[in-house]
Amino acid sequence: MFRISDFGKNYQNDSGIFLLMEDLDEALNQNPDLLMLGGGNPGFIKELQEYFCKKFKQFFDNKEEFLQAIGIYDSPKGNISFRKELATFFNRIFQWNITYEHIALTHGSQNAFFILFNLFSGKSQDQRLKLFFPLLPEYIGYEQVPIDPYSILSIEAKKVLINEYFFRYELDRDNVLNTIQKQYREIGCMAISTPGNPTGKIFSKEEQLFLKEVAEFYQIPLIIDSAYGQPFPGITFKNQEFVYSEYFIYTFSLSKTGLPGLRMGMIIANPEIISLVGKVQATLSLSPSRIAPFVFKDSFSSMEFYQICNTYIKDFYLKKRNLAINILTENFFPNEIKIHESEGAFFLWVMFPTLRIPSYELYKVLKSKGVIIVPGNFYYPGYPLEKMNKTDAYVSIRISFSQKEDILEKGLNLLVTVVKDYLK
Ligand code: PLP
Repeated sequence: MFRISDFGKNYQNDSGIFLLMEDLDEALNQNPDLLMLGGGNPGFIKELQEYFCKKFKQFFDNKEEFLQAIGIYDSPKGNISFRKELATFFNRIFQWNITYEHIALTHGSQNAFFILFNLFSGKSQDQRLKLFFPLLPEYIGYEQVPIDPYSILSIEAKKVLINEYFFRYELDRDNVLNTIQKQYREIGCMAISTPGNPTGKIFSKEEQLFLKEVAEFYQIPLIIDSAYGQPFPGITFKNQEFVYSEYFIYTFSLSKTGLPGLRMGMIIANPEIISLVGKVQATLSLSPSRIAPFVFKDSFSSMEFYQICNTYIKDFYLKKRNLAINILTENFFPNEIKIHESEGAFFLWVMFPTLRIPSYELYKVLKSKGVIIVPGNFYYPGYPLEKMNKTDAYVSIRISFSQKEDILEKGLNLLVTVVKDYLK
């Protein structure tokens, strides 16, 4: 009936992130009987929620500020006073030397990816610029972000066994270097998430220095998605180090502190990139929201926001992570399961090496029994479909441990029973 552009056709098939968000809405808003071990919704942390309520109450009580906040559009790069405050905050935490011109506010960091990925991928004069993911598996939400669906390049990680139950992915440096040496002219930027979603991997300082060298030598920016890491929400179970480079573009978000409804993300990058982001944002949405900049005015310069995150968030998730790991290792033999070392974020990437059905089929079986997980195949953005069955994606799932402990226990126990039926 309608004639649809290639842009529209790109979205006609359901993307992984669309299915995930639909499942999330179904489990958390419509059908609370579903056991939600899927999507990336943060848990409800009492102390954080009390703090947010207090800040919003103060905001409403100051009628003049409230009316200013809701009554006027902001700069397309985001509220200037708040960006100045954030610059001071990041300089203090990381000993950087940035100004507010290095920062743009966005409607959540997902929106930042839409802008950044499309600045650095797609048609460029007579060639196609590509986005390069140097370590798969990688975040489900990156797929379909580039408007040009053929502009993603990605390679699998190297797997290192740690002990009978645990392994970790590492950069396959030879493959990364080979790919870049061959294709550097067509790579517009690289991107990683750390702590990683779905794996929970934190890139070591050494790995970051390797990427910095590559980024600077080939002049290819690296986007570092820090939605789960320091300095907020700070869901890190080991030390996370930060490296600065003119070629690094950091994205941060307030969502995983417990504020996904607020939609507040941040990009920290070279002012030239930030200026371009502002121009795109003016077209996309005029300006980002100024609710968070008003509600949390002074909360970053006083370090109050940082302190409250660092006091309560990590332990909240660590307890749930340990519970999930205990249930899985107590119920599966080492040959039946391998778990990625969980260093941060609130997910477990779990492999069942002898699984008889693809992870997507397992997802459907589990959903029909009332448990939501995310199948591994969605974490391979840009990877050739015909080769997918040779990857870990085929036998892996992502489990979120962010929700209440009784849901986690019930969901995992049911998962154990169901999965056992599908192992060789
Ligand atoms: N990055 C990662 C790795 C995520 O998992 C998510 C959300 O799940 C986001 C970014 C986007 O979050 P938001 O748009 O709420 O900032």
